[in-house]
Amino acid sequence: MAEETPTNKEALELMNEQQTCIECQECCKWLTVVWDRGQFTPDLRHFYAIRGCRFTEQGRWIHVCIPTICSHLRFERGCLIYEERPDVCKKYDGREDVTMKGICKLV
Ligand code: SF4
Ligand code: SF4
Repeated sequence: MAEETPTNKEALELMNEQQTCIECQECCKWLTVVWDRGQFTPDLRHFYAIRGCRFTEQGRWIHVCIPTICSHLRFERGCLIYEERPDVCKKYDGREDVTMKGICKLV
């Protein structure tokens, strides 16, 4: 089956979202690891905290966001490998990421 062509409205929304992301870039600046709360000792929290990490707690899980700017990110241009970026980047939606609540600018 042929792929559906986006309507003008959808194409405009996509362009607006892309522009918002180019100006934001926040999700390309963090690497997240997830810990089971039962294994996440105070010492581990301290270990990450002194490295500037931030924490998002969700049930039994603790999401640790490590400040790590992707080497392909450029302030003025966004992702340098946009067309060939990893699938994980292509599928990512900051609106669905609990660690980006209140940070992601997409609505
Ligand atoms: S945090 Fe949201 S708005 Fe910012 S770049 Fe990522 S997906 Fe786009
Ligand atoms: S490859 Fe591109 S989209 Fe993926 S994290 Fe790096 S700059 Fe962001």
